[in-house]
Amino acid sequence: MKIKNLLKPGQVTVSCEIFPPKQGTGLPHAREVVHAIAALQPAFVSVTYGAGGTNCANSIELAAEVEKCGVPALAHLTCVSAEKQEVLAVARRFAANGIENILALRGDLPKDDSFPRDGQYRHACELITDLKEMGNFCIGGACYPEGHVESANKAEDLQYLKEKADAGCDFFTSQMFFDNDLFYNFLYRALAVGIHVPILAGIMPLTSAKQMRRCVELSGTYLPRRFLSLVDRFGSDPATMKQAGIAYATEQIIDLIANGVEHIHIYTMNKPDVAAKILSNLSHVISSHAD
Ligand code: FAD
Repeated sequence: MKIKNLLKPGQVTVSCEIFPPKQGTGLPHAREVVHAIAALQPAFVSVTYGAGGTNCANSIELAAEVEKCGVPALAHLTCVSAEKQEVLAVARRFAANGIENILALRGDLPKDDSFPRDGQYRHACELITDLKEMGNFCIGGACYPEGHVESANKAEDLQYLKEKADAGCDFFTSQMFFDNDLFYNFLYRALAVGIHVPILAGIMPLTSAKQMRRCVELSGTYLPRRFLSLVDRFGSDPATMKQAGIAYATEQIIDLIANGVEHIHIYTMNKPDVAAKILSNLSHVISSHAD
């Protein structure tokens, strides 16, 4: 099933994200995670791609497992650390495993000066163009409500986002954010430059103080005072912090849906229990928007 056909106006969708294990030995547990998350009946499950294509075989394996569970898979694919032909060969392997949806990404730049080399993609936009030419993929891209860290400013970032939409992106999934106003502002600015494809709101339930620190360190995402107060008050008590993080994510999603955002993507981080709790908190909110 192509994800673009699920993202209909007037229909709320909630999707989830998982990541593959670094080693093949982690696959049995990862498959259990897939089954537990698929049982929650998300609209689709996305499977991340290791930086530089490191655990590519595990990504393919897990995305295929998601499809076997009867849930559409969205396979992430980064292009920054491989030759173009190698990247396209991976896309063909996804297709051969029944995967119709690809989130086309550049990936983070290597820390050494090995980028860019001849024969490599420089930006996600170029990969999107080639995937589109291959014909049968539904293609997603990444977007950044607070601007991508490398961008000189948000306006420039948005122009490059528009290029991705024009190259054939069927939808965008946003980087996580913790302040909904930043996302609303981004949606207005995206519309203003002529981006009309669906934009999925990326929500990360932060359930521990350690996870919060790591996440902010890696992405530089703004954490509102209101969220920091939860960490100050509950951060040293894991069970309470987990409950507070789930409540915060739930509240964010309810506010988004109340304000007309229809597509929510939960960064479930291989924690089916957290995803289950959030979806259970939202059951009435979601069913009130079902056909
Ligand atoms: P691009 O769209 O290429 O943008 C990268 C930077 O280049 C931006 O600053 C942009 O403004 C600029 N730019 C774009 N086009 C041009 C141009 N034509 N000329 C000049 N500048 C340009 N990483 C992984 O390794 N694996 C994953 O599975 C993964 N999943 C992700 C999922 C989501 C939803 C998001 C938001 C990010 C994900 N990432 C993942 C991280 C992502 O790879 C990084 O954020 C990466 O640095 C940028 O990727 P991109 O596809 O957004 O790149």
